[in-house]
Amino acid sequence: MTDRTPLVAGNWKMHRDHLEAIQLVQRLAYHLTEEDTDGQEVTVHPPFTALRSVQTLIDSDRLRLILGAQDCHPDAEGAHTGDVSVPMLARLAVGYVIVGHSERRLHHGEDDALVARKARAALGGGLRPIVCVGEGQAVRDAGRAEEVVLAQVRGSLEGVEPDDPARVVVAYEPVWAIGTGRTATPDDAQAMAAAIRAELAERSGAAFAAGVRILYGGSVKPANIRSIMAQPDVDGVLVGGASLSAEDFALIVGHRRL
Ligand code: PEP
Repeated sequence: MTDRTPLVAGNWKMHRDHLEAIQLVQRLAYHLTEEDTDGQEVTVHPPFTALRSVQTLIDSDRLRLILGAQDCHPDAEGAHTGDVSVPMLARLAVGYVIVGHSERRLHHGEDDALVARKARAALGGGLRPIVCVGEGQAVRDAGRAEEVVLAQVRGSLEGVEPDDPARVVVAYEPVWAIGTGRTATPDDAQAMAAAIRAELAERSGAAFAAGVRILYGGSVKPANIRSIMAQPDVDGVLVGGASLSAEDFALIVGHRRL
């Protein structure tokens, strides 16, 4: 089996201005030990307005955190009012970018084809995309979760095939579990992660699929992190609400000592 470096990603959504962001990262750094970050990657994804201040802090204090963004435009530049391009993010030393989060799919009408364009743009600009997929409650109730999620994987990863599979991350985030306090069971998270990996193996070969990291996201907390991380096909987590608490996020990152 390929060794996959675990990834713990904190998605701050539209929370924290650039000054609050500095405080949050400083508190997080205070709570994290070297042991916590050894052997795994930890990303923080503040809003665009806070990227610069967080990047400066990571740089000046040599923090073992990777800067992440929450979205990008597929084009490198152009008449796209309000959007931010991959080259702009790369200039700020952003390493990872979330694409296709369910909130963008829902509120901004993003479809799989657009998500794939963003993911390809990210890779082309030297960033690593975290490509989000996940079914809604009605789909799960109808027993169609796997079918729908695998179709999203095919569409959202169209043409996304870097030489190094570690450059692509897929985040399985059941929509009904995001911000609701309801979590998929560890068994359900494992089953979907395994199905996603099998789909990638069929498309790009077993070696590629074995190198792609698959995250679970949806109400991850210090209380459930260990059982989620114990699943063999789950290589990390995408954390929303709990990443806004330095103490909770540090506990999640430091799950190996919980
Ligand atoms: C998310 O924003 O991707 C997420 C999983 O949020 P939460 O952890 O709050 O459910």
